[in-house]
Amino acid sequence: MMEDKPAVGPVHTVPAMSRRTLVIAATAFAGRSVGAAAQGADPKFVDLRPPTVDTSNLKEIAEGVWVIRDHRIWLVPNIGIILGRDAALVVDCGMGPANGERVLDLARRIAGHRRLFLTTTHFHPEHGYGAQVFRPEATIVYNRAQRDELQEKGLRYIDLFRKTQTPAAAAALDGTKIVMPHFTYDGPSAELDLGGRIVQLHTWGTAHTRGDQIVLLPQERILFAGDLIEERMFPIFPWFPPQDHEIDSVRWVEILNGFRNFKPAVIVPGHGDLGDIRIATAVASHIETVGREVRRRRKAGQTVDQIIAAYKPTVISDYPRWEHPDLINWEIGYFAAQPA
Ligand SMILES: [Zn+2]
Repeated sequence: MMEDKPAVGPVHTVPAMSRRTLVIAATAFAGRSVGAAAQGADPKFVDLRPPTVDTSNLKEIAEGVWVIRDHRIWLVPNIGIILGRDAALVVDCGMGPANGERVLDLARRIAGHRRLFLTTTHFHPEHGYGAQVFRPEATIVYNRAQRDELQEKGLRYIDLFRKTQTPAAAAALDGTKIVMPHFTYDGPSAELDLGGRIVQLHTWGTAHTRGDQIVLLPQERILFAGDLIEERMFPIFPWFPPQDHEIDSVRWVEILNGFRNFKPAVIVPGHGDLGDIRIATAVASHIETVGREVRRRRKAGQTVDQIIAAYKPTVISDYPRWEHPDLINWEIGYFAAQPA
């Protein structure tokens, strides 16, 4: 359901991906305010730092394109602020209303008179659960699958995070309300014209979540990947059956391999340091390797607990610099549950 109907421009093709695109003109919005862990898995997250977005950790990666970097703090995402002549787009907003306020305050200061938009890379709490403070003054745009997934699982994830994450993370979620976007788009992509700067939103269906979305600046060749990529950190498989099990590792790898068609100069991962196409390739290769080995061990009759015990040390030694090794438990849990 679209609450406000955007001005829809001509449907055209994005050459790199041959995708139908809905053009949303930013200027059309003038004046509107518009758990249980996996079987056998018991991850222990040792990062006790509160998941506070530090808006002073700001880097302008191209003219008018800012990233609030995550300090590699667990449950703090990399956040983007993209300026056009008329509007500014915020990409992800941190977890809980206090983080949302911090990001909104900085976005206002950077954007000045420009209208504000917010989009999120997926529905997970640390990426989008500060959106409530944006809603009165920024136009929120999600793809339909992400909106539906948020509606369906949003409250459940607050509960899940309260039970499984640190007290500081639980406290960050105090007062969180799940809010719906002003606009949703259907289909694989949409374009926002911020005024002299085009931003593309692309989605492919279930991968890390049901509604993953990247944000692409085709001119500047900057790609915000969300949690399709963590840099120097094991990938996050949100494998929490029965509460959540919507992951598709095959599509995830396809998406990552497809990023090279965008010829990205800079990739902003969901978490970790900025990089280039190599940070996408590293994640794709890792997921394929672990998937292959877990399938082989399942066929040989090993249980998920046996696989974690026997194989996890190998994965850790293969990636000695990657953080949060207990994420491997969820990854193995996912692969072990897939049909042979
Ligand atoms: Zn994340």
